[in-house]
Amino acid sequence: MKIIMLGAPGAGKGTQAKRIAAKYDIPHISTGDIFRANIKEGTELGKKAKTYMDQGLLVPDELVVDLVADRIQKDDCKNGFVLDGFPRTIPQAESLDAALEKLEQKMDYAIDVDVPDENIVSRMSGRRACAGCGATYHIQFNPTKTEGICDACGDKLILRDDDKPETVQKRLDVYHDQTQPLIQYYEKAGILESVDGTMAMDDVFEAIVKILGA
Ligand code: ADP
Ligand code: ADP
Ligand code: ZN
Repeated sequence: MKIIMLGAPGAGKGTQAKRIAAKYDIPHISTGDIFRANIKEGTELGKKAKTYMDQGLLVPDELVVDLVADRIQKDDCKNGFVLDGFPRTIPQAESLDAALEKLEQKMDYAIDVDVPDENIVSRMSGRRACAGCGATYHIQFNPTKTEGICDACGDKLILRDDDKPETVQKRLDVYHDQTQPLIQYYEKAGILESVDGTMAMDDVFEAIVKILGA
């Protein structure tokens, strides 16, 4: 099963992608996580990506397209994968299609997690990420047992630099401008599914499982 998660920043793509990956035993491939890991390790790719990410801009297509094309050819992807945060532009979607075509494969579902802009700001300003394992929480909607401490690994929680209010609006603008057109792209391809992302996390997941099949 090959799945793309679509939706605005903060819509809940990552939250749902992790659950899908666990239930269907397929890898969760998040380009944002890959960039953040590179930034942490201080790689060249990380240095380049950071300058864009800090401004709320997309990293240029050429820095992400080959990376994903390589990743989906790894052994663990042979039963499928869930892409989170990629593609984010029409050219990225086209290059993904081309890479899959070479492998005589195609995507099965593009799931749009639909959340209006009004809800996005509180989703992102309340998001906290674990500095150690990358688990995601929300101060109001998904709090940890002990404030500021990861339930999973005990490391401390941080507010992502790009989740600060001054960057959030920019990212939303970029989403509407460059990423939202993908909804139509996948509708045309006949694989678009939409879920109401304003529901509670469990209900969103239930709606997704209905689409994918148990
Ligand atoms: P969110 O889940 O909140 O939308 P991500 O973790 O997916 O955020 O992405 C964080 C940042 O990483 C983006 O704002 C962008 O700068 C960069 N990024 C991630 N994936 C891509 C991509 N496919 N193309 C370009 N930039 C990307
Ligand atoms: P994305 O990957 O689309 O940027 P995340 O999965 O990181 O979004 O979710 C953004 C924030 O909103 C996180 O703090 C997460 O815990 C929270 N969140 C995710 N889904 C829901 C939901 N259905 N209801 C309330 N909060 C949610
Ligand atoms: Zn952790």
